[in-house]
Amino acid sequence: MTMVDVHPIAAPWGRFALYSFLIDAPELALVDTGVTASAAGLPVELEKIGRRIEDVRWILLTHGHIDHVGGAHALWEATGRRAEVVISGTDAGFLRSRRAHVEEALALRGEFVDAAALEAAKTAETLEAISGEMEPTVTVEDGDVLDLGGVSVRVVAVPGHTAGAVAYVIEDGRQVFIGDAAQCYGAASGFPGYENPAAYRSSLEKVRALDPQGLYLGHPYRRADGTPYPVALDAAGAREALEGSLAREAEIRAALDGYIRVETGSPYSPFAAVAERLGYTGDPTLEPSPFFTTMHGYCTQRQENHG
Ligand SMILES: [Zn+2]
Repeated sequence: MTMVDVHPIAAPWGRFALYSFLIDAPELALVDTGVTASAAGLPVELEKIGRRIEDVRWILLTHGHIDHVGGAHALWEATGRRAEVVISGTDAGFLRSRRAHVEEALALRGEFVDAAALEAAKTAETLEAISGEMEPTVTVEDGDVLDLGGVSVRVVAVPGHTAGAVAYVIEDGRQVFIGDAAQCYGAASGFPGYENPAAYRSSLEKVRALDPQGLYLGHPYRRADGTPYPVALDAAGAREALEGSLAREAEIRAALDGYIRVETGSPYSPFAAVAERLGYTGDPTLEPSPFFTTMHGYCTQRQENHG
């Protein structure tokens, strides 16, 4: 087994810590792209490690969220449009259309916040943070294999955080780029965000079964005690982060068990008691509100289970 060199590249955006990764394969690959502003800094970061953006041949997108696809168009241009831009068919709409991000936010959280304000803020954000709308050059699905000049990368569907989330797995070294599909105890917001709780759990179990020797996270997600994980984890760190993500999902599911929504004046309304049970004190109205997205996910799942 040979591990391929991987370089985490910080791609800051306001209060968010975002990460892209360079896979130092014969054909250079970038995993995720940050937003417009971070994409501008990325070529400089590559130079620091002796690599050039012009030589990047693959832009691998783990999922469609703004902070992962926003820089894609700018970086693709910087490669002279020579890089393949890869995303799952399911999440490709987020690369094609800024408006898709607005619609998604409204669908997942609009009923819990001031929807008009959310729409306006999200529309402005997509203009600033997404460098351009584009058609992916390659759409992938579970099981596809990409050849980075002799380094095989397998696509593993990890739905849950978004419907079309995928992990990219360097087959020989069992190095897994998981994007945001392992949320641990949440990132800056302190709450894990996923649209589909059951899919999120099975994706985590699927990745755990791969026994990753390296696991690369899209953000510095936190442990139960609030301390952040490094974004590049070894085998032991990978197990801990995956177990922690599963544990937190179980806690949230338990806190919602039998819960009946109650409208209150609380910013957590209609889930104030759930936030209290979980000891969650973050601001649930801060975008991209993982609290409301996840609550919405469980409510939707419950409705489906009950027909
Ligand atoms: Zn995400």
